[in-house]
Amino acid sequence: MKRSESDRLFEHAQTVIPGGVNSPVRAFRSVGLKPLFITKAQGAYIHDADGNAYLDYVGSWGPMILGHAHPAVVEAVRQAAGKGLSYGAPTEAEILLAEKVISAYPSVEMIRMVNSGTEATMSAVRVARAYTGRDKIIKFTGHYHGHADYLLVKAGSGATTLGIPNSAGVPQSFSEHTLLCEFNDFDTIIQITQEEYPGEIACIILEPFAGNMGFVPPVQDFLKKLRALCDREGIILIFDEVMTGFRVAKGGAQEVFSVIPDMTTFGKIIGGGMPVGAYGGKKEIMSMVAPLGSVYQAGTLSGNPLAMAAGLATLNELFKPGMYDELARTTGRLTEGIRTIAQKTGTPMTVDHCGSMFGFFFSGSPIHSYEQALACDTARFNRFFAKMLEEEIYLAPSAFEAGFVSLAHTTEDIDKTLSAFENILRFMAY
Ligand code: PLP
Repeated sequence: MKRSESDRLFEHAQTVIPGGVNSPVRAFRSVGLKPLFITKAQGAYIHDADGNAYLDYVGSWGPMILGHAHPAVVEAVRQAAGKGLSYGAPTEAEILLAEKVISAYPSVEMIRMVNSGTEATMSAVRVARAYTGRDKIIKFTGHYHGHADYLLVKAGSGATTLGIPNSAGVPQSFSEHTLLCEFNDFDTIIQITQEEYPGEIACIILEPFAGNMGFVPPVQDFLKKLRALCDREGIILIFDEVMTGFRVAKGGAQEVFSVIPDMTTFGKIIGGGMPVGAYGGKKEIMSMVAPLGSVYQAGTLSGNPLAMAAGLATLNELFKPGMYDELARTTGRLTEGIRTIAQKTGTPMTVDHCGSMFGFFFSGSPIHSYEQALACDTARFNRFFAKMLEEEIYLAPSAFEAGFVSLAHTTEDIDKTLSAFENILRFMAY
């Protein structure tokens, strides 16, 4: 497979951009390869600078649930662009997108648009601290909430992939209020909230399905127990649904588990591929945000008209009848197929999905924690990843990322993927 043009661009990029990329995990370092430079994307496929077309399971890390360059979204953006790129003043589209999100998330009574998931989680935590008058927060190891200083502690995604779970440049004092717990380990949470820091915790923030240490669902009743604990202790429960929102179900993880958080953060899908994030929750809590309340949070480009247009067009398509059933069916075909192939080839693997978010580990036992995720066979994943790329199937370049299926993925696409899986796993058989 020709990669010379991507390699040339990568050489060039490294002279002006740190590591040649604008977000670390894109560099393919953890899989020991060089990144592909993309020239266009259409439907379920992305095309690189050497003219190769790959079946894409990254979907820009989540937003592209309709597939790339969906005509309705492209047209909406085109029309918006013709009316001006940014006003820095309110528009009706902002109300429409806010209402659209609220309609699917009963826990969200008011919502504020920002420009990224990072801004959304950072702002939600600020509001939770202001509302409770407490400083300490709980996050889970391996969960990623963007790159705010105090949230980059034992974070997943690129921070895990590159082996830098704690970033340099973050003063110790900035993260001293961040307390760490293991996902799915309720006993430690009880100990920290009730024995070590009673009355001091402002919020618990988590990915309700972890997606940044691979795909790791919560164990039975974990979220329900968290909800009850937060009620007892006056702690704000924040579901970071930047990845899972409109992905695992229309109403996100909170719909799947019937657990109502106090606050929710969004990103990815609600921007349809444009830079958007949002945070919302109960009216009483969101009334803390300026100019209504005393929590300052602002943005030159927040609620940008092109971004609102892309988000609205995306949700309009997604809300059409049958879309989530189709996504779950296609993704189920993929994960069932992988499970069967793993058995047939004697490969120790665990695989799971919810809606159109999926993941697999080269591990014989189920994964519930960050520690267990880190213990999976990453060397095997890296060899597997390289072979899949040769078959023109584009998975996330790390053993610690979730995968995404879009409405543009056809049954034939899934079967083509499964056949590549089978050939490669046979070749790599134990
Ligand atoms: N929260 C979660 C759960 C995420 O997966 C991400 C990004 O992948 C973020 C927050 C940060 O979002 P962004 O990259 O838009 O800043």
